[in-house]
Amino acid sequence: MAWFKVDDKLHTSRKLMSIPRKYRLAALGLWTIAGSWSVRQDTDGFIPDYVIEELAGSQVHVNALVTAELWMPAAGGWRFVVWRKSQDGDYRPNIRKTVRRAVMERDGYRCVFCGALDGLSLDHIVRYRDDGPDSEDNLRVLCMPCNLERG
Ligand SMILES: [Zn+2]
Repeated sequence: MAWFKVDDKLHTSRKLMSIPRKYRLAALGLWTIAGSWSVRQDTDGFIPDYVIEELAGSQVHVNALVTAELWMPAAGGWRFVVWRKSQDGDYRPNIRKTVRRAVMERDGYRCVFCGALDGLSLDHIVRYRDDGPDSEDNLRVLCMPCNLERG
């Protein structure tokens, strides 16, 4: 089992407090449930657009999270601004931009399973939660449907 964790300063988080009161709890709910989803699906903090609706989220709450700099836009969805600090175990920095770009270029900016061009993210061949490294030879480009099917 892996975990999506929050720390004991969450209730005073400046980013969270910047969300208007009437949206705050629902936006936090989406943030939390999407975090749990991403850990389970091993998407490394990437939340595809279509999952928002499955998780009962709405655009107003997505916008609140982006404005508060808790999420940022990504191709085909959204990404946690701070991700790996929320994970269990030792802190690991984000995949380096140079590695990310090298893997994308090697795989031709398409899913290595089906050739899709949208909603791409990097997939760990040996899972991140099984201590798979962030090295080029352990990473490949997958689209979200293929990533989910693999999971
Ligand atoms: Zn695919």
